[in-house]
Amino acid sequence: MTDIISALIEYLGEQQVILGADLTNRATSYWRPEPTKTLALLRPRSTDEVSQILKLCHAHDQPVVVQGGLTGCVDGAISTEQEIIISLERMNRIESIDPVGGTATVEAGVILETLHSTLANEGLMFPLDLGARGSCTIGGNIATNAGGINVLRYGMMRELVLGLEAVLADGTVISSMNQMIKNNAGYDIKQLFIGSEGTLGVVTRAVVKIHPRSKSRDSAMVGVQDFEAVTGFLQYLRGALGGTLSAFEVMWGDYFCAVTEPGWHRPPMQRDHPFYIMIETEGSDPESDAKRFSDTLEHAFETGLISDAVVPKSEAERKSLWDIRENFEAILEKQPYYLYDVSLPIKDMPAYVSDVQNALQDQFTAASCYVLGHVADGNLHLFLCPGESGDWHESCDKVVYGPLKNFEGSISAEHGIGTEKISWLGISRSEPEIALMRQLKAAMDPNKILGAGRVIPPAES
Ligand SMILES: Cc1cc2nc3c(=O)[nH]c(=O)nc-3n(C[C@H](O)[C@H](O)[C@H](O)COP(=O)(O)OP(=O)(O)OC[C@H]3O[C@@H](n4cnc5c(N)ncnc54)[C@H](O)[C@@H]3O)c2cc1C
Repeated sequence: MTDIISALIEYLGEQQVILGADLTNRATSYWRPEPTKTLALLRPRSTDEVSQILKLCHAHDQPVVVQGGLTGCVDGAISTEQEIIISLERMNRIESIDPVGGTATVEAGVILETLHSTLANEGLMFPLDLGARGSCTIGGNIATNAGGINVLRYGMMRELVLGLEAVLADGTVISSMNQMIKNNAGYDIKQLFIGSEGTLGVVTRAVVKIHPRSKSRDSAMVGVQDFEAVTGFLQYLRGALGGTLSAFEVMWGDYFCAVTEPGWHRPPMQRDHPFYIMIETEGSDPESDAKRFSDTLEHAFETGLISDAVVPKSEAERKSLWDIRENFEAILEKQPYYLYDVSLPIKDMPAYVSDVQNALQDQFTAASCYVLGHVADGNLHLFLCPGESGDWHESCDKVVYGPLKNFEGSISAEHGIGTEKISWLGISRSEPEIALMRQLKAAMDPNKILGAGRVIPPAES
């Protein structure tokens, strides 16, 4: 047994240091069911324990990776055999809820859905929502600056965190648990940790913004004839619904058809529309909100902006419509598949998608490309399926990221960089920006033990 493992067992006790065969029932990630590789997995219970662990790892030059719910899409939380995992799974307490201040104070390992249901019982809500809600943690959401389906109205995680506590690589605790919206006392230190994917510190606690739960929710799925109608409908809804629009999720026709093949989701409408859109509003007056929503849809239909619409009559029907957007098992069966998350100006989306589709077809005759996304935020997700067995990741990366530069887009809208996109960072960040990232990393983690080999490409020697 190595010195560092002995020291960790002495400090945490044997039960909280998982080794060898005891790791076999722990999957590598949401996307990879095989057992995780690691030197040891640690289960601290408090910020102090995280601090002590990092002091020891720092002193031993021991690489560390932080894990939340393992739902991240860019392999950032996946450990190597040489790394130690710090899992936040036991730091899962909702410490306090303050409806007047509009805050919830939570430990980083709280599962997003647990926060949703706890707040719902008190007539409150936390606006971040995404398909991985049942597994992802608030710490992981912070570390990836998660976005999801309500960004249009409430913003990304960066806008939803008021304060946080993080432990630096050498064990120093930075407690910045601010509860106010206004606080301009020097640099806003929390923003360094939000979106840093576990490379600058371990987030252990946070203060997040909460709201009263909406009294009304209206949803619909619509079919439209072209991308011009998608953007026209978005503009129309923004005006007609007076700020109550909370979701506007677009699915290209090929995606909709793939996930509604026989044996998968039941199609709620004809399968030949070029685009499908899931919309949702939240308001305060169920009766007048429902009327405004249906009048708005009716008018859009009469003016030819939309071609078809389905309004769910129950929560179960609403859920089955959302399942079409959020549950893409049908595509995950088409091995190999590669998932991408990019952003670009909305007006350029049709040209970009067409460039990607053409480049893919040039290389793989049996390929398919399935596109969906939080279009109103400039965010697209693409599944590329080459239709041939083999490892085509690099070829598909070139297909997706190559044309993106022409549109001044970002290689990561909301999933982060992790290890997966590291060699492409230069498309979206300038050399001086990357150099500043290296300086920050060197100042905060001089021994490079936290999330090594993630986010920042190595400097050329
Ligand atoms: C079905 C599905 C749908 C998704 N939809 C969306 C979406 O709509 N929008 C979106 O933005 N993302 C989406 N994601 C990806 C998203 O990044 C994650 O779901 C979530 O934010 C990650 O949380 P996690 O706890 O699983 O983190 P993990 O996967 O465990 O970790 C992610 C990264 O954060 C680091 N990290 C984790 N916890 C901490 C911590 N406490 N301190 C420091 N670093 C930490 C890890 O080291 C890693 O680099 C989706 C994923 C899935 C599987």
